[in-house]
Amino acid sequence: MAPFDVDLFVIGGGSGGVRAARIASGHGARVAIAEEYRFGGTCVIRGCVPKKLLVYASRFADEFEDARGYGWTVDPPAFDWTKLIAAKDAEITRLEAIYRSGQMRAGVDVHDERAEVAGPNAVRLVKSGRVIKAGRILIATGGRPYVDPFMAGREHVITSDEAFHLAELPRRVVIEGGGYIAVEFAGIFHGLGAETTVVYRGDKILRGFDDDMRDALTEELLARGIRIVTRSVIERVEQRGSDRIAHLSGGVELAADQIMLAIGRRPNTSGLGLETAGVQMGPTGAVIVDQRSQSNVPSIFAVGDVTDRVNLTPVAIREGHAFADSVFGGKPWAADHNLIPTAVFSTPEIGTVGLSEADAAKFHGALDIYKARFRPMKGVLAGRSERMVMKLVVAQGSQKVVGCHVLGPDAGEIVQMAAIAMRMGATKADFDSTMALHPSSAEELVTIREKWVPPVKAAE
Ligand code: FAD
Ligand code: NDP
Repeated sequence: MAPFDVDLFVIGGGSGGVRAARIASGHGARVAIAEEYRFGGTCVIRGCVPKKLLVYASRFADEFEDARGYGWTVDPPAFDWTKLIAAKDAEITRLEAIYRSGQMRAGVDVHDERAEVAGPNAVRLVKSGRVIKAGRILIATGGRPYVDPFMAGREHVITSDEAFHLAELPRRVVIEGGGYIAVEFAGIFHGLGAETTVVYRGDKILRGFDDDMRDALTEELLARGIRIVTRSVIERVEQRGSDRIAHLSGGVELAADQIMLAIGRRPNTSGLGLETAGVQMGPTGAVIVDQRSQSNVPSIFAVGDVTDRVNLTPVAIREGHAFADSVFGGKPWAADHNLIPTAVFSTPEIGTVGLSEADAAKFHGALDIYKARFRPMKGVLAGRSERMVMKLVVAQGSQKVVGCHVLGPDAGEIVQMAAIAMRMGATKADFDSTMALHPSSAEELVTIREKWVPPVKAAE
């Protein structure tokens, strides 16, 4: 009799978990998976996918406006939040079914309930009380929005989880945070017509991104009418009649219909039983793993957001795939965390791959910087003054393009392609020798010739 009930038990049916389970099963392993909420995980159920659908919805406001410049007569357009949410929910339900059936078709034993670690080779299914012995356990439980447990009035705030299910579109929204989720939702709510304020503790939103992108996005958001309050935090929230009041540090009060916190996420490890199995975790509860996603307990591995390495869907998927190939397929490899392209789906959006100018200066020393700032062609007849920004960061010695940053329409799509060239080690000369595709915005990336020279500071 086999010593284990299954070769692999995966806890969490999100991006990383489902990929690992399906691939391991394909390699002949006996695999079980448990999901406590809905198959598909954060990305499909309350992350990337519903977010992008809401981003699309919010951008129609610009399209209606711009259409007039192209000869269209547009009746005052009307928007119905309830219809949008219902359409979004139907799509999510469709995708969830695909994720679940994909597991079943791959021969994975599916459990719709919470699972916890009961030892280095044991998993307990919480609802049924069943204990399953597993050769290996994969923790793929993702993360959840962080809300300070001691914040007064925390019961009056929402996070991205609730934002997807609001009964009505708020008229006034205050969002705390200056990261991906805060700026993306600021664009969504503003585009759909809400008066939107972002409250950020630092000087400039999107810390870690290239400064030119941060500056240009801030400028565009302000020009669109999004208010940004910097160097402030929400200290407490109070319900006053039908208003929610955000009390900011410094004594400012902001009244809103919804107050949303987007101040980061925490790994889903509390109550998971990892301590009892002796698994080491970091200060915020992230499972500490090596490059092969193995924890200090040899039979326990972890992938995706629960490890708090790079919290993006394609990364979780690759880590899950690499784990399954390495452990069950005899093909060891590790996900490469370098040169990961990413987009912030703000409006306008940012696409970025490689290093910011500041980080490149630390790693590569002298740099050549190329920048272009222009009005995209589509905006001209529309009378839209918004500018697109493109920037290449080039290591002076090797002439390799080590950073590519784009702000403007389709920035994410453009940067995905640039990432291929950069992974292949493309130099600025390779970009220059590539024929332009005309007329496009992306052609700027292969036609920028002039090195950017910092302006000479006027004498004090
Ligand atoms: P998850 O997808 O979170 O899956 C974990 C699963 O485990 C969940 O389904 C959870 O219910 C389940 N679970 C937890 N504990 C247990 C348990 N004990 N037993 C059983 N099941 C359990 N990334 C991008 O690349 N692009 C984007 O545009 C993007 N947009 C985002 C927008 C938002 C609003 C958010 C919140 C995130 C976004 N992300 C985006 C990040 C992306 O969603 C995550 O990086 C990705 O989902 C991580 O996958 P995962 O498998 O690690 O975890
Ligand atoms: P981020 O880490 O991107 O941003 C968190 C923001 O909250 C930062 O501005 C941070 O400030 C601020 N913050 C952190 N702690 C506090 C605090 N105690 N009080 C006030 N402000 C605070 O997290 P998000 O929640 O926006 O998103 C989580 C992750 O999900 C992202 O990092 C990303 O990996 C992923 N994601 C990806 C998306 C995409 O690919 N398009 C979209 C959405 C999410 P500071 O910078 O000063 O530390």
